[in-house]
Amino acid sequence: MSTSEPLRLFFALPCPAPVAHAVAAWRDRLQLPGKAVAAENLHLTLAFLGAQPRSRLDELKAIAAGIRGQAFELHLDRLGHWRAGLLHLLPSRPPEALLDLECSLRERLLQAGYELESRTFRPHLTLARHSSPPSGTVRPDFRWQAERFALYLSESDREGTRYRSLAHWPLCP
Ligand code: ATP
Ligand code: MG
Repeated sequence: MSTSEPLRLFFALPCPAPVAHAVAAWRDRLQLPGKAVAAENLHLTLAFLGAQPRSRLDELKAIAAGIRGQAFELHLDRLGHWRAGLLHLLPSRPPEALLDLECSLRERLLQAGYELESRTFRPHLTLARHSSPPSGTVRPDFRWQAERFALYLSESDREGTRYRSLAHWPLCP
């Protein structure tokens, strides 16, 4: 990648590998249509920055480093389906610490001049796109201890989209 090209960036909670593999296997067993998100790409977006010049990376890292977030348990216990077929897992009760984390990030990013989505934050883990909901009731039950958040670079080529973690910051116990 050339150094002058903008980077497609976002902040997210990583889904730990064992949970991601369990989630992907569970999703695959539902046998729903659509384009599944690869297990290694499963994440919960906190703030989407879109195309940014590389020169802003240090500033973004400094913003994240200034956040004192609390660790929390994330319990994904619902399956949701949005417009255009976005199938996702979500917590029926989002932890306060998660909402606080998103809020602090948002405030600081806006203050620094980043343009963010104005829609209400709806924490979710995307499972598949262009999908359909299952016909019966399903009761997902996945949980992990969120102990860090990360800045990701989204890279796409003919083989698809991959996310690369550029840096991560701890959430305090
Ligand atoms: P692709 O777009 O290549 O199918 P993707 O959507 O996973 O793959 P990106 O578009 O780079 O990859 O998005 C990275 C993350 O940011 C995803 O969680 C995506 O849902 C989220 N995202 C993308 N665009 C926006 C946006 N405009 N507002 C909020 N979140 C977004
Ligand atoms: Mg996208």
